Amino acid sequence: MTICDTAKCSGCFACQNVCPKNCISMTEGRLGHLYPQIDESLCISCGACSRVCPQNNLPEMSVPTAAYATRSKDSDEYENASSGGLAAVLSRKMLGRGGIVYGCSSETEGGIKHVRIESDSDLWLLSGSKYVQSHINLIFRDVKDDLENRRAVLFIGTPCQVAGLVNYLKKPYENLITADLICHGVPSQKMLFEHLENVGAASGKYITFREKAGLYIRVSDENKKPVYYKESFDDDYYLGFLCNISLRDSCHSCAFAKNERVSDITIGDFWGLSPQAEIKKPYGISLALPVTDKGREFFEACSDMLENEERPTSEAFAGNSPLRKPVGKAKDREKFIKNYEKKGFKKAAARSLFKKRLRSKTIRLLQKIGLLKKLINILRRK
Ligand SMILES: Cc1cc2nc3c(=O)[nH]c(=O)nc-3n(C[C@H](O)[C@H](O)[C@H](O)COP(=O)(O)OP(=O)(O)OC[C@H]3O[C@@H](n4cnc5c(N)ncnc54)[C@H](O)[C@@H]3O)c2cc1C
Repeated sequence: MTICDTAKCSGCFACQNVCPKNCISMTEGRLGHLYPQIDESLCISCGACSRVCPQNNLPEMSVPTAAYATRSKDSDEYENASSGGLAAVLSRKMLGRGGIVYGCSSETEGGIKHVRIESDSDLWLLSGSKYVQSHINLIFRDVKDDLENRRAVLFIGTPCQVAGLVNYLKKPYENLITADLICHGVPSQKMLFEHLENVGAASGKYITFREKAGLYIRVSDENKKPVYYKESFDDDYYLGFLCNISLRDSCHSCAFAKNERVSDITIGDFWGLSPQAEIKKPYGISLALPVTDKGREFFEACSDMLENEERPTSEAFAGNSPLRKPVGKAKDREKFIKNYEKKGFKKAAARSLFKKRLRSKTIRLLQKIGLLKKLINILRRK
C-alpha cells in the first residue's frame, strides 16, 4: 500500500493520526526526515491514510483579502518573538477566551514537537521560530478531542501541518482557528541534533533561532543559561537552512507556497514592507494575512493588543517569495546530500558551505565597514 509519492511527502503525520489500526510509524529516510511506514501485517487496506494525505487531496485554499504590518504592544512579547509577536498575541487571546493553543515547543527533550498549551504560564514555550521540522506525533487526535468537547482551539504550524490537520478533521469546526506560517522549508531534526552533538551543545534543553539582534541560534540549559550561541553564518546548520541546501525534498515542490492559503490567518515576517510605512519597527514586524471571515474576526478581536497598519496585499506578496512559489534548490544540494549520507553532517557541511560562509562573512564585513564610514562622516561633520 502506497500513501503518496515519497518525494512529495511533507511529513505532516496526518496518515499516522488517522490509521484505525495504528500500523503506521514514522521512520527516518532521506536527509534524516521522517516518512510513514506501514506495518503490512496489521494493515487492512482501508485507504484512510492515502485519502487524508494533503498531497493527494489538497484542502480548499483562498487568497487573503487584506495585509497588515503588525507588532505586539506588549514589549516583552515583542522582544521574545521572531518578528512582531503576532503568534504570541493570537495565542494569548485564545487562552484569554478559555481556549487551547497548539504550537511548536522550544524544548529539545524527546525531539522538537507540537504541544498543547492551556495556561499563560506555558506560552513562552511556543515563542520564537524553530527552524527545523516540528514533529506532530499523534497530536491531531488531541485537537479533535478538544474540538468535539467544544473547547476553542488555535492551531499554529507550517502550511503542510495545517493542511494535514484540516484533512484529518474531515469537517469544519466553528471552534477552530488555524494559523499557518509563511514557510520556506524545513531541515530534519536528525541533522539538527547531529550538529548540536558536533558542537558540544547536545546537553541543551531549549532552542531558539531568532533574537532581536538578528539570526542567532541559542541553545540553553534548564536555567535558560546559553550553552551554545552563534550567529547564523557562523553555524553550519543555520547556514545550510538559509542556503536551502538541507531542506526536505517536498519543500522544493511545496503545494502551499503560493498566495492562496490553507489557514484562517497566515503569519510571517513583513519582508517587503515599504519604507513609507508609518508603523514603528525598531526590530522585526509581523505580516498578518487574514484569509477567512473567521481569521479576520479573530485578528480584529486582537486589535487592542497590536499596533497595526494596513498595507496592500501586493506589497506582502512581492516581498516574501514563499507566498509566490516554492523555494529553489541550492546548486550543490545533491552533492551535499551524497556527502551527508556517506560522511555525516560535519564533513558534508565543511565541503559545501565553505564558499557560502565566506560570501556571507564578506557581505557582513562590508555592511559593517559601510556603517563605520557613515559613523566617521557623522563624527567629522560634528
Ligand atoms: C521553518 C520555518 C520557516 C519559515 N520561513 C519563513 C519565510 O520564508 N518567510 C517568512 O516571512 N516567515 C517565515 N517563517 C515564519 C517566521 O519565522 C516567524 O515565525 C513569523 O514571522 C511569525 O513571527 P512571530 O513573531 O509572530 O511569532 P514567533 O515568535 O516566530 O512564533 C511562531 C509560532 O510558530 C510556531 N512554530 C515555531 N517553529 C515552528 C516549526 N518549526 N513548525 C511549526 N510551527 C512552528 C510556534 O508554535 C509559534 O506559535 C518561518 C518559520 C518557520 C518555523
